[in-house]
Amino acid sequence: MSTAIRIAMRRASILLSASSLLAAHTALAAPAPPADILLTNGTIRTLDHRDSTAQALAIRGGRIVWTGPDAAAPAHADAHTRTIDLKGHMVMPGLTDGHMHPLVGGQNLIGCSLDYLPLTADGFTARIRACAANPAYRTASGWLVVRNWFQEAMQPPGVRMTKAALDSIDSTRPIIVLSSFGHSLLANSAALKRAGITAATPNPTGGQVVHDASGQPTGILEDTALNLMLAVLPHPTAQENVAAAAASLAAMRAQGITGFLDAWALPEDLSSFTALQKQGKLTARAHFAPLIEPAQGKDIAGDIRRLTTIRARYDQGPLTPSPSVTVRNVKLFMDGVITAPSQTGLLLAPYLVDKGTKDHPDWQPGPSKGPAPYFPLDILSPLLKALVTAGFDPHMHADGDGAVRLALDAIAATRKALPANDFRPAIAHDEMVDPADMPRYRALDTIPVLSFQWEKQAPDTTEGVLPYIGPDRARYLEPAAQLEQAGARIAYGSDWPVDPLDEWFALKVGVTRTNAPAAGARYAHPLGTEPGLSRTSVMRAITMNANYELRSDTVAGSLEPGKFADLIILDRDIATIPAEQIAETRVLLTMVGGRIVYSTGTFSPPVR
Ligand SMILES: [Zn+2]
Repeated sequence: MSTAIRIAMRRASILLSASSLLAAHTALAAPAPPADILLTNGTIRTLDHRDSTAQALAIRGGRIVWTGPDAAAPAHADAHTRTIDLKGHMVMPGLTDGHMHPLVGGQNLIGCSLDYLPLTADGFTARIRACAANPAYRTASGWLVVRNWFQEAMQPPGVRMTKAALDSIDSTRPIIVLSSFGHSLLANSAALKRAGITAATPNPTGGQVVHDASGQPTGILEDTALNLMLAVLPHPTAQENVAAAAASLAAMRAQGITGFLDAWALPEDLSSFTALQKQGKLTARAHFAPLIEPAQGKDIAGDIRRLTTIRARYDQGPLTPSPSVTVRNVKLFMDGVITAPSQTGLLLAPYLVDKGTKDHPDWQPGPSKGPAPYFPLDILSPLLKALVTAGFDPHMHADGDGAVRLALDAIAATRKALPANDFRPAIAHDEMVDPADMPRYRALDTIPVLSFQWEKQAPDTTEGVLPYIGPDRARYLEPAAQLEQAGARIAYGSDWPVDPLDEWFALKVGVTRTNAPAAGARYAHPLGTEPGLSRTSVMRAITMNANYELRSDTVAGSLEPGKFADLIILDRDIATIPAEQIAETRVLLTMVGGRIVYSTGTFSPPVR
């Protein structure tokens, strides 16, 4: 299918949904056809453009057909209507997670995990030793893959793990430990041998094979160097991947997630979730962003060919009430992560280094601003131009302020070259943004996709970033409020499984910028001096704005007539409770396209 036809079809689908919105409104004049499902007696926070609240909501054919007061609800029911008494509970649109890694998330739920814990070197080794002895983690290939390693929280701070720890467990069985940030892994000698990594292995573009003083690989691989290992890691079977995708969707339902972007979609991601979709088991709208590697950046024609082939195979076209699969986004990494020990985030000014003593630290600019840009601007700009011309929206990982500027510069060049193209670029993470760049998000209609749960004092910020950037730049660390003030349309993305999947904790942190009380006194204060976002802003980020990012804002993201009935019932009203309690929120019911896919507590089946 030609690009022109595809774009025309997409425009037509937007027009169609606009006309169905109109139809739903004009239908109010005539006697309303009875609803399939009627919700009554609740606090329905619609997140429409006026932030309206309703008591009741009617659903027909998987779409919302009416919202309004309880008194008017009976007119929408007949004998076949299923009425759900909300018993005063709050309802909001289903959550749309604008950046996550759902297949890996699912694999983590069912495999050997370090559970994101702050571990000592001994604790790290002991847990992996237990996994190695556990028959549940025996795979046909014999490899042991350990996940959810919170490398930046190792205790005491600064401890560096090497292959020696893993070799002490088993030096013949390949073992790899994947950092939860997804930018590094630790391999034992057996795994390094399988990958052919030796003292002579050079650093690939956009990555690092860490060597010790004697020149031997330490077992740590950073960024694209991970590919050297992943290329030889035996693949899980198709069946194992489908099981992981199913576990992932189950976790999402319980969180209230009704849509997501898979921000690094490999073929197995697409095939696993599509397999579940064909079985009627896809319970969230699934959007996929295949990756363009830095090394592939120059072969623009090849990239477009590859991406359009993936789209032709998997994209299911305009959205329907029943969840489907899209391939409209493309992932590109501008840099790695700013957090020590990686410091692979690209900065505008050097990372600081401590030239003092333990008792008298003296932080001074060091030699490094991070790695070279993973995509130089003269490669990135033409690549973006080709992508958006082919109908893809770029989703760009940029963590440091240098990477953010690079992404914005390429977007600016693309806007200038193609002023009529309505592409919706997103920059994920944006952990540091230079103040001069903040207004550019709005000017370039670029969506910052933020992970609110990072906006707190924690080992990875308090020890892992703040000393290395100094007080001046600390003011622009996790700058959500400043971005909003500068007019940016902020979307939320969890980046799961970089952190455990906990959207409600993330929304809490987005408002308070504080850690959980369990993190202790050291991390009890808010991060920085800037305020958090308002509750409405964090709710919009994870609903309307994430749907804008994914081009589904005409059919999802708010509770309005004509839109899909994607909604959740909560155990508390997050607009009115003390902000700290938002983290404790439990989802009682999740509905996608008018179908109840999860319910518990008050609404555990039957809900009649
Ligand atoms: Zn990510």
